[in-house]
Amino acid sequence: MKLTFETFELNTRHAFNIAREAGPPARRLVWVRVRDEDGVEGWGEASPQPFYGETADTVMAVMPRLARALEAAAEGDPFALERIDGVLHHALAHNGSARVAISAALHDLVGKKLGLPVWKLWGLDPVAAPSSFTIGIDSIDVMRQKVREAAAYSILKIKVGTPDDFEILTMIREEAPDKTIRVDANTGWTAKQAISAMPILADFGVEFVEQPLPAHDLAGLKLVRDNSPLPIIADESCATAEDVAKLAGVVDGVNIKLSKCGSLREAVRIAHAARAHGMSVMLGCMIESTLGIAAAVQVAPLVDYVDLDGAALLARDPFRGPGIEADGTLRFNTAPGLGVTEAGTAGNRE
Ligand SMILES: [Mg+2]
Repeated sequence: MKLTFETFELNTRHAFNIAREAGPPARRLVWVRVRDEDGVEGWGEASPQPFYGETADTVMAVMPRLARALEAAAEGDPFALERIDGVLHHALAHNGSARVAISAALHDLVGKKLGLPVWKLWGLDPVAAPSSFTIGIDSIDVMRQKVREAAAYSILKIKVGTPDDFEILTMIREEAPDKTIRVDANTGWTAKQAISAMPILADFGVEFVEQPLPAHDLAGLKLVRDNSPLPIIADESCATAEDVAKLAGVVDGVNIKLSKCGSLREAVRIAHAARAHGMSVMLGCMIESTLGIAAAVQVAPLVDYVDLDGAALLARDPFRGPGIEADGTLRFNTAPGLGVTEAGTAGNRE
């Protein structure tokens, strides 16, 4: 099997800011392709996150090592997905976005060889909850504009953890009195701040709160949960299935992201581990193109809450395929594998 990789740039329509940092408008991602001996090619995307120690440069730097590990593990058989997964994880335990790009490419490849979408290979129904649409932190006027642009979406996700949270939520409720709203503090609060914010968020009709505290503050998260009228979902605290057990009894649910967990198979394992602990399951994303989102869509039938708007925030998407419609409804692929093609190629123009 031959693995090739190259960087590409994605631009968002708006600067995308969260509590921890201001996001740059342009991001570098990595497009990974795996070609087998029959010439069938699978694609995957790495959306590296500095929070998890990755950049496009680190992804590019580890790819040759992952390529060698893939070659050794696969022994020419792309269907050995579980074995390859384990070997890649052993080769580079971190570097989740680099590994998931290969995982996605292999699942795409085997789907194409069998003529089946990945969700169908897994025995899933192509049905999932609608996706939320995220409103990034900005001035109230710009955020108001973003809420208006998101009129078609029934669920909004609001980034909180700013001094203006109350004003932001007041504005959201003026603009969208009946929509479901979820908030994400991206580790931005202390336990005390979170506990005092919860009743106010409940009054605004917020459905749940994502990651109020720093990732490793599990005692604080439990304290917040024990004193919160709203469910708490762990995002930064939960990367892999192993984390789910630690979070049982601490939070109400976990947010799966492919670039955190490092493989499509691990994403499925997280969903099942969370179910085993009676926890709810959310599926999120980073700023990704349709190629990255397409891999997450395959997992979406397994979760309760979907947040796959990463490609909807882009000024231009280099890929076409499954993802979310303009109102947040999920669109599954009928084409095999991940069902992704390049945008703007011959016969495939918008
Ligand atoms: Mg989050």
